[in-house]
Amino acid sequence: MRLGRCGRFGWLYPVEYKRGRKGEWDNDELQVCAQALCLEEMTGKSIATGYVYYAQSHQRQLVEISEGLRRETIATINAIQILLQTGKIPPAHYSKRCQGCSLYQQCLPQAAEKVLRYQEAN
Ligand code: SF4
Repeated sequence: MRLGRCGRFGWLYPVEYKRGRKGEWDNDELQVCAQALCLEEMTGKSIATGYVYYAQSHQRQLVEISEGLRRETIATINAIQILLQTGKIPPAHYSKRCQGCSLYQQCLPQAAEKVLRYQEAN
């Protein structure tokens, strides 16, 4: 993440850099919103926008830090905190999302599902 700064009063906004191009999921927006929430906590200033820069397509996408996005981001943060507290990782399920996931090589969801099916059958 980098910080953008604009104007005399230091209007701050997060800029998240991605190597690829925009995908069809909203995780990048959630990441920018989480960064905006951190900035708000650090500076005490309200952050209304952020950006995601996609290096492959050389495009910068505006992310409006709306109330809906804030609620979704906070719900995601809470869910992650529960995962961390319980230590229970949900089982991996292969879906369309997996095709662009940076954790695919570590997660191997198709192999994990095969192992699970094998264990259930035996
Ligand atoms: S590869 Fe694993 S972590 Fe990534 S989206 Fe698929 S199931 Fe989730």
